[in-house]
Amino acid sequence: MADNKRDYYEVLGVSKTATPDEIKKAYRKMAVKYHPDKNPGDKEAEEKFKEAAEAYDVLSDADKRAKYDKFGHAMGPQGFGGGGGGFHAGGMSMEDIFAQFGDIFGGHFGGGFGGFADEYGGHTPRQHVNKGTDLRITVKVTLKDIMDGVDKKIKIPRLVACEHCKGTGAKDGTAFKTCPRCHGTGYITTVQQTILGAMQSQQVCPECEGEGKIISEPCTYCNGTGVEKKEEIVSFHIPAGVEDGMVLTLRGQGNAPRHGGVNGDLLIVIQEEKNSELIRDGDDLIYNLMLDFPTASLGGSAEVPTVGGRARLKIPAGTQPGKVLRLRGKGLPRMNSSVKGDLLVNVMVYVPEELSDTEKAAIESLKDSSNIVPTESTAKRIFSRLRHIFNKENRGV
Ligand SMILES: [Zn+2]
Ligand SMILES: [Zn+2]
Repeated sequence: MADNKRDYYEVLGVSKTATPDEIKKAYRKMAVKYHPDKNPGDKEAEEKFKEAAEAYDVLSDADKRAKYDKFGHAMGPQGFGGGGGGFHAGGMSMEDIFAQFGDIFGGHFGGGFGGFADEYGGHTPRQHVNKGTDLRITVKVTLKDIMDGVDKKIKIPRLVACEHCKGTGAKDGTAFKTCPRCHGTGYITTVQQTILGAMQSQQVCPECEGEGKIISEPCTYCNGTGVEKKEEIVSFHIPAGVEDGMVLTLRGQGNAPRHGGVNGDLLIVIQEEKNSELIRDGDDLIYNLMLDFPTASLGGSAEVPTVGGRARLKIPAGTQPGKVLRLRGKGLPRMNSSVKGDLLVNVMVYVPEELSDTEKAAIESLKDSSNIVPTESTAKRIFSRLRHIFNKENRGV
């Protein structure tokens, strides 16, 4: 199990009675010495670096240190790390170390540490993945498209990998030579003066961008860029229920990067075309119906538009302006759901603007009739039923 582990005090080179400050100093020294940026690709240095971090993790914590002093590496059932046989059963990862002890390094390493934790992988030259840029297009959709979903085919100009050099930019995809600046390592070393003394740090070679090799003879078709502009047809599906401003992402359908790597994405921005008759309100659709006075008062039916068709609607006698009639399920589908909205018919009643003499006479004759003129209580009752009328109960709705 943990028998072959080195003593933590020995790892840090301190005595059993070392003060917390001495332990911290000792660890800092080890960390600087074995820091992976100083020892790229050196597995032994990496192990030493991890070992020091583990020792520091235990000895810098008074409670863990006391237990370690008592039990050593062979811990009791209540041992550290759930009795897995070590202070950290799986050992500490590099990310753990930087997350936990990053501050001990202070600012001496500049940004090097932050970047390191992300990119660390032990590769020399470093694994460097290029990503192409994203493309963004706007696609107009009608209510019918939103209702049913729609398949689109669109021609877009985008950068694709040059076929002659397989996207490498080198003639026939093979004309490379070792980078003279970093001699193929992908790194260059710089020496900096810090308060800890002269510090070497590694940077990605700017000449080859970490590749370790450069093109010796560029591809003549793409002038060494590795990409060419092509008009291509892209097919995709827009699901039912999309909304204006939504963005669909087609991974890998954007531009190819220079010199190989991963394509960018194609972002499809949904633009909803306004319908001349129907107004969208989430899943619901609204239609403003202008009803004639006789139908509103006698009852009858009215035809209303739906998405891709028409529907006939029963109008009850005595339908008031402001009444909302609901056609269930005639709205739009909700995205990724079986829920469907309604078609809300907002009833207006047309009051004639011009009248012939005969029409005037007919209306005059009704003017004082008891059922034509609303009483105060009738008005109150009707107002209370209408959602969109301002009254005490629903003020501001
Ligand atoms: Zn090419
Ligand atoms: Zn280089």
